[in-house]
Amino acid sequence: MEVFVRDIADVLENLAPLEYAESYDNVGLIVGSLHKKVKNILITLDLTEEVFDESISRKCDLIISFHPIIFMPMKNITGKTFSERIIIHALKNDISIYVIHTNLDVVWEGTSSYISKLLQIKREKVLFPKKETIKKLITYVPINYAVKVRNALFEAGAGNISNYSHCSFNFDGLGSYMGNMKTKPFFGKKETFHMEKETCISVIFPDYKLNIIRNALFKNHPYEEVAYEIYNLENVNPYVGIGFVGNLIEKMNEYDFLLFIKKKMNIPCIRHSNFTGKKIKKIAMITGSGRLGIEFSVKEEADVFISSDLKYHDFFKYEKKILIVDIGHYESEKFTKNLLKSFLDKNFTSISVYQSEVHTNPVKYFY
Ligand SMILES: [Zn+2]
Repeated sequence: MEVFVRDIADVLENLAPLEYAESYDNVGLIVGSLHKKVKNILITLDLTEEVFDESISRKCDLIISFHPIIFMPMKNITGKTFSERIIIHALKNDISIYVIHTNLDVVWEGTSSYISKLLQIKREKVLFPKKETIKKLITYVPINYAVKVRNALFEAGAGNISNYSHCSFNFDGLGSYMGNMKTKPFFGKKETFHMEKETCISVIFPDYKLNIIRNALFKNHPYEEVAYEIYNLENVNPYVGIGFVGNLIEKMNEYDFLLFIKKKMNIPCIRHSNFTGKKIKKIAMITGSGRLGIEFSVKEEADVFISSDLKYHDFFKYEKKILIVDIGHYESEKFTKNLLKSFLDKNFTSISVYQSEVHTNPVKYFY
């Protein structure tokens, strides 16, 4: 079966919608065309020139990178930086570049899922829920069309609350309208006041499905003018956001726990705060730069906070309340390659998916 960049993007964006990316981020197709055929994919954490050369030698026509090579708008592309040279070579060699980054960080089956399985942590919820991810739709439908419209909204992705689907609230009432000469009322006559028995349907839906939900409503509602309201909700989805909170199967002392993560994640060097003397059971973790998560972890009463890019004073701040652990940025995110490979392998059997073998960590350790 032929696979196009569009097919890969669709599957990845179903896992991690582009709308979930942070505002500073740059995700999705960065270089190339969605209509190009794909045979081999190379997955990398960072797209360096060495990784690009690897894509040529392994005959890959699509590179999927976790970190974007373009963050800021470019005024010219002349080859003065490695990012520009990669873009030039990618275009010359017809290699597409796709980025999946903070949108993968915030979804439940994303970056955190692989790490939590690796460390045998049972996740409870995200550490820092993403705001404004839920909307509410209220609409008014003639009684005999309520089932059709409601089902269409469910089908389009509305009405899911945690492990429950098909959630809605409905009540019947009377709607009124009077169309002018230009109208074609579904019930009643133009220029005549009309009252109709209608069902008010209310459902919630994820923010990024707004267009799909609105299209489903318009397609299935019988009126030429559909009355509806859409609201942003303050409610948070406990499964969409940065990091996670969870529990180890069995308590461990702090020393053993550090040894455990060092071994499981193959980390050369760990920086950590003073031991608190408590056993480790509840874990809070943010892969990548996560120093803002320390405060949330303390509020969650986690025994340990694991992340990277922490500053000197971060290790002082909470004294004996929590063990603070910095495992390194690259080390905390390197398993993203495994996650993406197994996800793409499951979804596409006719293409080859490779993980880059280049060690792209720009931070070196001198022992
Ligand atoms: Zn990162």
